[in-house]
Amino acid sequence: MRKTRPSGSTQQHNPAASVYGGHRFSLIAELGAAAALLIVALIAVNGWHVWHTYHLALERSRANTQNLTQALSQHASDTFAQAESTLQELAGQISQSGMGNDQLPRLQRIFLEKTQALAQINAISLFDATGRMIVTAANRLPVSTDYSDREYFQYHRDHPQLTVHIGKVIRSRISNDLVLPISRRLNHPDGSFAGVLLESVMINHFRNFYTKFEIDDDSTLMMLLNNGTILYRQPYNEKAIGTTIAGSDLYKENIRQNHAGIVTSSLAADQRQNVYSFTHLKDFPVIITTGLSLDRSLLDWRRDAISQGVITLIFVTLIALTGLLLIRQVRARMHIELELIRTQQELRKLNRSLEKLARSDGLTGLYNRRHFDLTLAHEFNRSLQQHQDLGLILLDVDYFKQFNDLYGHVAGDECLKLIGKTLRELPLRARDLVARYGGEEFIVLLPDTNLAGTLAVAQRIVREVEQLRVPHQGSPTDILTLSIGIFVGVPRADRDTPSKLIVKADAALYQAKHQGRNQICVAG
Ligand code: GH3
Ligand code: MG
Ligand code: MG
Repeated sequence: MRKTRPSGSTQQHNPAASVYGGHRFSLIAELGAAAALLIVALIAVNGWHVWHTYHLALERSRANTQNLTQALSQHASDTFAQAESTLQELAGQISQSGMGNDQLPRLQRIFLEKTQALAQINAISLFDATGRMIVTAANRLPVSTDYSDREYFQYHRDHPQLTVHIGKVIRSRISNDLVLPISRRLNHPDGSFAGVLLESVMINHFRNFYTKFEIDDDSTLMMLLNNGTILYRQPYNEKAIGTTIAGSDLYKENIRQNHAGIVTSSLAADQRQNVYSFTHLKDFPVIITTGLSLDRSLLDWRRDAISQGVITLIFVTLIALTGLLLIRQVRARMHIELELIRTQQELRKLNRSLEKLARSDGLTGLYNRRHFDLTLAHEFNRSLQQHQDLGLILLDVDYFKQFNDLYGHVAGDECLKLIGKTLRELPLRARDLVARYGGEEFIVLLPDTNLAGTLAVAQRIVREVEQLRVPHQGSPTDILTLSIGIFVGVPRADRDTPSKLIVKADAALYQAKHQGRNQICVAG
């Protein structure tokens, strides 16, 4: 390596782009991931809450419908049990006393007492084997006394069982009210058909009870016969009484198959879904079923779920927007910082080239005098401390003024450049330094070099320049030559300074010029 030309290191890689780029990516990714995680957690928690409250609402609806069914079953069982016990008691009395005409006034009195004792009883009546009404406790008598067309009469006539029969709802021929007929067969002592005992229960008895439960129009409370015939229905609808739900899926797939149950279903394809619970009465062929509207049951839940959904959406949007904003800000800030780093790098580069410019000579590309002076001061001190030789070669182009005059200033410059190139290509050591000292003068600094070494370099310079064979009509040799002054020695602190060494080399140079030029002189 030679110190002949100022040089600056050129950094090709860009650390800002690689190191900072990775950092930026990970920071943005972390921000994005945090926002996404927050959003997912928010949605998950709210989703779970909505799901949980949905099941709670459903559970509550199921519990409500079961409680209703329970209350209605109890009421129906009590009503039928009371009717059954009245009918069994009266049947026992009739079987003892018989149904002769003489007994009828007494029976009528008893029937009246029973009817008046219980408000739900519309009438208690007795029919003979032909279906003729022979006793009734009603306050007025029917227009016709022939009841053989009634379903309950025909049923008992055709069935030998002595159990209580609950018939379809009918309109009373005495009061014109809708009544539920509960009846029992009467036998002669020989077991043949003697007639029918009937207690008709007012439908209003059920209506009064069922209206205590506040239900909406989509919900239904029903009392059915085992075959699906509607005995009573709330909301009250007279036309529905006596119709059947036997064709519905609810009846076919659930009520008919099971003693009790709870199911979400609809009575008809066009109807909304209800939560139905049903139970068969233990001792009577009657079913109670209550259906609470699913929509109504979930109304509060739906309202809450929607408001919670909206709030969640607002939060999610806020988080997403904040996240995006943050990422944008981070990006912008990183961009600015990246720009700063780039600018710093460019400034450093510029600085280096400025430094280089400050140290170099514009024409030859060699170090300039300023740099030489600094290096000389440094090497001077080193030689002083280490007691080493310091070699200085000062060289000056001969008759250069004439060269300019003969060939022009531009040619003169080219000539100086050529000498610069020749000097630069000398095989020197790392600490050696070649500089343009000024005008057509150059200087070579050779630290730790003795006289022989310095002379060898000087002679080589003379030789190399001679070999260039640059024509120079103004010189006696006809080619371009140099004169060289040399100083070699160990500087002494008491009498030497760097400039004094140069003065010595310059004196030797002056001597070389004086002695005819194109030669080397060593300072004495
Ligand atoms: P001597 O042999 O005594 O050294 O004679 P000389 O003509 O070389 O010396 P002198 O000091 O009288 O002249 C030096 C000339 O070098 C003067 C100037 O025109 C020329 N010179 C100095 N610097 C430059 C330069 O950068 N370019 C050119 N073309 N000429 C230069
Ligand atoms: Mg000169
Ligand atoms: Mg000269």
